[in-house]
Amino acid sequence: MANYDFDMGILGGGAAGLTIASGAAQLGAKTLLIEKGKELGGDCLHFGCVPSKTLIRTANVYHLIKNAKHFGLPQVDLPPVDFKEVAKRIQSVISIIQKHDSEERFCKLGVRVEFGQATFVDEHNILLNGEKYSSKTWVIATGSSPSVPSIEGLDKTPYITNREIYSLERLPKTMIVLGAGPIAIEMAQAFCRLGTKVSVIQRSDQILTKEDKDMADQIMKVLSDEGVAFYLNTSVINTMEAGSEKEITIKRGEEVINVRGEIILVAMGRDANLNGLGLKDLDLDFDRAGIKVDHRLRTNQKHIFAAGDVTGEYQFTHAAGYEGGVVITNAIFHLPRRVDYTFFPWCTYTDPELASIGMNEKGAKAAGIKYSAWIEEFKDNDRSLAEGEHIGKIKMILDEREKPLGVQILGPHAGDLVSEWVAITNGRVKLSTLASAVHPYPTLGEINKRVAGTFLSGKIFSDRVRKGLKFFFNLKGRACEPLNRVITP
Ligand SMILES: Cc1cc2nc3c(=O)[nH]c(=O)nc-3n(C[C@H](O)[C@H](O)[C@H](O)COP(=O)(O)OP(=O)(O)OC[C@H]3O[C@@H](n4cnc5c(N)ncnc54)[C@H](O)[C@@H]3O)c2cc1C
Repeated sequence: MANYDFDMGILGGGAAGLTIASGAAQLGAKTLLIEKGKELGGDCLHFGCVPSKTLIRTANVYHLIKNAKHFGLPQVDLPPVDFKEVAKRIQSVISIIQKHDSEERFCKLGVRVEFGQATFVDEHNILLNGEKYSSKTWVIATGSSPSVPSIEGLDKTPYITNREIYSLERLPKTMIVLGAGPIAIEMAQAFCRLGTKVSVIQRSDQILTKEDKDMADQIMKVLSDEGVAFYLNTSVINTMEAGSEKEITIKRGEEVINVRGEIILVAMGRDANLNGLGLKDLDLDFDRAGIKVDHRLRTNQKHIFAAGDVTGEYQFTHAAGYEGGVVITNAIFHLPRRVDYTFFPWCTYTDPELASIGMNEKGAKAAGIKYSAWIEEFKDNDRSLAEGEHIGKIKMILDEREKPLGVQILGPHAGDLVSEWVAITNGRVKLSTLASAVHPYPTLGEINKRVAGTFLSGKIFSDRVRKGLKFFFNLKGRACEPLNRVITP
């Protein structure tokens, strides 16, 4: 039997790689973790979830203060934002979390951490900083990078991506956002709230294209009302530098429009990080979107796994963590565990947030599944009104057997509210259990109970039930008929 230096070798110290390294080492596997950057933590910590959510919070606080009068408070005249201070706060949050993802912590767990660019020399050996390391099992968890489209002039026009946006020297007066996915839309609202005039350019007729149009349109309306300009159904013709600004020429139908901005943010999807790994020589299946894996996250070389953004599938930190667990079960316990994304949740952290789990109407229609949709609005939730939040709704999608296919929530704290549905869908909890379980009043969470109740009330308060009760218990029926008053002017 071949003797390898390590049981488990991992390329990439982000959410997926760290989950696998920690699990493997604690289970007794001799584990090597290789990170190309200077620190562990990956995109989520340094250029993704953590800085974006920190920035969003700052922008939302500024927005709230500016809108104090809506809460019965005196109007405040605020000085403009000093982005250096905002960037400082972002870095301080990152540095606190960095401690959880430190080399020392992983070393304590038993993981050997090395930094540098690793390249496969054959299917069990990699070359790193001039040294060869062998491992019985490898995991590629190298993440993804912003995809930069081939647009005429873009190579000569300065632009930024999520890697630069959190460390800007000052708040830009104007910004053009190319793309309208979650990263683009979160940043569009946050910068607009901080005081930047933002324009969003999008190819299709909808922002957040994975979501149902009614939900996405409601978010677009909120952002439009706050001052974000949207250019939908457009194709970009070219970009160029125009003095201190950048100019993007777009076409919408026959109309040609020039949009100018101090900064261009490119947020048009992600490419898997595969450069320099030597995958071609390994004969591994991959394309620009990512490494091809089976349901157990194995590549076509069965001892090489891939997890996280690099597979091009569900590009979220919690997906990377989940997939890390699936790799551990398969590679360390040797148990055949498959990934299952049926009830996979995610959230876009705009204000209001848009959270989803399972199938939406778009998905059900595409799959040819018959469904019914049940809706409750936040304007009918007492807590929501008390909080000054009246926009949004919950949409529950049921199949023909009246089992939940999915739920979408557009509203305050939607990302937290969807967690109840994580338990309901994964635990196959009956809607009647949700509807009869006591929820504290007044809470936003009551909307979950209420949508289930609305669906069930049609069955409980039916003519059939009324007739049965009348028959058995001699109930006398209505005590008041609707008043048909004629109102005279
Ligand atoms: C702006 C933004 C906001 C986001 N917000 C959210 C959010 O709110 N919620 C959420 O769930 N997700 C969010 N995401 C997505 C999330 O960041 C990713 O899904 C997550 O980081 C993926 O983890 P990963 O381990 O696959 O990759 P990464 O975290 O990117 O880690 C990969 C690591 O591999 C390293 N690497 C690359 N090449 C090599 C190599 N050849 N050798 C060794 N190491 C290598 C990289 O340096 C990196 O450290 C956001 C992303 C962005 C860009």
